[in-house]
Parts: sequence; C-alpha cells; structure tokens
Amino acid sequence: MAVKDEQPPLHILFFPFLAPGHLIPAADMAALFAARGAKCTILTTPLNAAVIRSAVDRANDASAASGGAERVPAIDIAVVPFPDVGLPPGVESGPALSSEADREKFFRGSQLLREPFDRFLAEHKPDAVVSDSFFDWSADAAAEHGVPRLTFLGSSMFARACSSSMLRHNPVEAAPEDDPDAPVLLPGLPHRVVLRRSQMMDPKKRPDKWAFFQSMNAADDRSYGEVFNSFRDLEPEYLEHYETVLGRRAWLVGPVALASKELATRGAADSGSNGLSPDAGGCLRWLDARPAGSVVYVSFGTLSHFSPPELRELARGLDMSGKNFVWVVGGGADDTEESEWMPDGFADLLARGDRGVIIRGWAPQMVILNHAAVGGFVTHCGWNSTLEAVSAGVPMVTWPRYADQFYNEKLVVELLGVGVGVGSTDYASKLEARRVIAGEVVAEAIGRVMGEGEEAEAIRERARVLGEKARRAVEKGGSSYDDVGRLMDELMARRSPVNV
Ligand code: UDP
Repeated sequence: MAVKDEQPPLHILFFPFLAPGHLIPAADMAALFAARGAKCTILTTPLNAAVIRSAVDRANDASAASGGAERVPAIDIAVVPFPDVGLPPGVESGPALSSEADREKFFRGSQLLREPFDRFLAEHKPDAVVSDSFFDWSADAAAEHGVPRLTFLGSSMFARACSSSMLRHNPVEAAPEDDPDAPVLLPGLPHRVVLRRSQMMDPKKRPDKWAFFQSMNAADDRSYGEVFNSFRDLEPEYLEHYETVLGRRAWLVGPVALASKELATRGAADSGSNGLSPDAGGCLRWLDARPAGSVVYVSFGTLSHFSPPELRELARGLDMSGKNFVWVVGGGADDTEESEWMPDGFADLLARGDRGVIIRGWAPQMVILNHAAVGGFVTHCGWNSTLEAVSAGVPMVTWPRYADQFYNEKLVVELLGVGVGVGSTDYASKLEARRVIAGEVVAEAIGRVMGEGEEAEAIRERARVLGEKARRAVEKGGSSYDDVGRLMDELMARRSPVNV
C-alpha cells in the first residue's frame, strides 16, 4: 500500500473531437477524474481550448481549494495549432462549418492531428488516453505507444446499440426506397425499436460516412474499453447488451455535467467572462420572477440549423402554447434576420417581457435547466442536452434532426417515458432541407408535457424520479462514482502490477 501511495498520480490524456458537444463532456469528465486524484491533460486546438477554458479553470480552482493540488493544476490543456488545410482562420470546430467543402477540409485537418497526438504520447507516456471515436486512427497510434485507448463518443448506450445494429445489419437497405415512411426495425436489440426510413441515415446516399462509421466501430472494437456519459440505472439493458453482444467493456461515469453543476452555477454569476451571452444574466433574473415549472426552455445545441419557415412555426408554437419561454436562438448556426421569420405580433410579445425571452449566443444551459421555474425543455436530443435534462428532472419535447438524435428520442419517449415528440421525420444535417413542423403541433407537444392531466403528470413524475437517480449515481457510493474509482484502480494496477 505504501508503495502505491508513493507513485505519481495517474495521468490521463483526453482527446475530444473538435465540437462543443464532444469537448464539454470531455472537460467535465476530466474534472471528475481530477477530483479523484488523477492528473488530466486535454489535447485540443486554440479556439476549442477557449470553449472549455473557464470550466477547466473552475475545476482547478475547486481542486486547489480542497487541497487536491497545491501548485500543479489538476487539469492541463495542451494546445496545438489546427493544421493548415486551407480553412479560413478561426474555422476549426464543427459549428463554424458552413459548406460541404469546408466540412471535408475540416475532417482532413482533424486527421492530421495524429502528429501532435503521437508526440504527446511519446513525450509524456500517459497511463491512458480517452480518445474520441471520431479519431479512429488514435486506436493504432495509442497501441503503437503501448497506451490503453478508452474510446468516448458522447452518445447514450442505447444509441450505441442502435448504431451497432445498423452497422451490422443495414436494415435501411431492405426498406422500399420510394417510401420515406416505411418502418425499419433495428434487429437484435433488447427492445423492439422501429424508425421511419426517413429518420435514418441512408448508407447508399452517404457511402463515405458509412465507411467512416464502419472504421470507427472497428477501431472502438480493438480499444481497451469505452467510457460513457450515462449511468447504470438509466439504460441497464443496454449495458448488458453492450457487454454481451458487442463484447466490449464499458465504464458509465455520468451524468458528467452534474459533476460540474456546482461550478457552473458559480460561473453563471460572471456572465461575459466565460463566453456566456450578454442576454444570459437578464434571463436568469427573468426566470427568478416566474412561477415554478411555468417556463419552457428551448435550445437545439450547437450544430442545428433552423430555416426561416421552421423558426416562424416554432415561434407560433411557443406563442400558442400559452407557456412562458426562454428560447436560445442561434447557438452557432442561426444567423437569419428576425424580419425573415418572426410572425406578426411576436416582436411585441417579446417586448412586453412577461411571456418570453430570447437568448442570442451562448446560454448557461445547466443553470437554466436546474432553475425551479423551468418545467419543460424543447430539445434536438443531442445526448449532452438530453442527459442534462434527465439530471435536472425536466421532461422533454423532442425534436431530433440527425446523428444519434432520433435514437435518443426513442429512448426518451418510448423507453423512459419522460418526453413527447413533435413528430420530426427527416434525418437531415445543418446543410440539408427538411419538412416544416406546424406551430400547432409544437404547442400541443408542449401542452402534453407541461399541461394539466394524467399523461403530463405521469411524465413529470417519471422525469423527477429519474433526476433523483441521476444525482445519486454521481454521489459518493453511487454507480458512476464507483465506476470512476474502478477504472482508476484498474489503470493504476496495470501500470505497476507487482506493487499494487
Ligand atoms: N450548450 C450550452 N449553451 C448553449 C448551447 C449549448 O451550454 O447555448 C451546451 C449544452 O449544455 C450541451 C452542449 O452545449 O452540454 C451541446 O451538446 P449536445 O450533445 O446537446 O448537442 P450538439 O451541440 O452536440 O448537437
């Protein structure tokens, strides 16, 4: 035991993909491991470092205050330049991409990060690397340096199982091509999961993406294991499925945002210094004056684009719902002029200030979701947002767009029963068109979650209970707390099997 105590702390390198939805949970996860005594480094590029800088600073301050690290910060950000691939300066992350050509260059640039990644492993020899699945090449790079690679995709275990089923069976291929509404069953899952054809990626239309997913999956297969931003009570059948059907090892350490919730709450007070929108402080004061559970929070993450007709219908829906609202417009993608989409009377409604506020720019989402006034969340079902709502005990109105979001909607609506869908049907990325959902439908879905009646009450109660389970998971003795400890012990034992 004495020998173990004398060892330098475990050193874990985090290497998230270059988009806020990957960086934020990676930084939160680093904070979790750092709080338990690990030294953590996050390898990223300058603009992406800025996204997580304040969260990392707060985690380091907290760790120093609790005596965790006297001089050396527990979390370090290793900043490397984004490779020159002909992108304009400042374009080095997912939300900044506005054309297919830029997207292609961006992916090429991210592959070139292999060089600084290799260099870091050679110079620092960390005990483990938590690398994004999107860096499929990092599996071989880590193996060459003898460093165990833990993969992290930032998805639910349920979505992992759905995409694995998709990759193994390609059920879309058998569905009639001319029928977007044709039901497609995902085979081999613990539940019967059926989507419409139009809600799924069509491998024939996106052969490059399909090949990339296959390669990612193969790289994850030959990795040491996977860390999930999830918790055991949330999707237990899918943990078992993962271990038995996929034959991989998983550690569930989430909800990671809860680890930084206290810190985030403190951060909300200093809006401006940590990239928050100038609207954010006013929004929090506005929420303070609203009754409990009366406000619907509306945000679609950092990569979703809404066309002017979609924005117009959403605004109509919020108005018709009769609920108070906080709406984050333009979380990176919507730069449309208000005059192009605001329906008649909506500007007046905003100007009155009693029904709703709009935040342009970055909102303190964890703080908002945990505010007593918030009673519902209209979300695109990005996994971070979904789990943040689960943690806050807030029921959801689901509006998936692409990626794993349609799978997450299934989990939220059909398996967990903590949300209602608006009926989103088209898998389409930010650069593609989709069908518009009418304001009446949006208003009805909000009512089914936040209104009177048995269905709404049952949804809210399930959300409340799930939120309690989420919070218990990360407390001392909870399943996620224990998984962090188990993984750290295992990595330590691997380092020096004779002494431990
Ligand atoms: N987020 C935030 N404020 C914003 C927009 C997003 O704090 O104004 C955070 C949100 O809390 C979540 C992440 O950004 O942690 C978005 O990740 P998610 O997986 O939900 O969606 P993505 O942006 O990857 O589609």
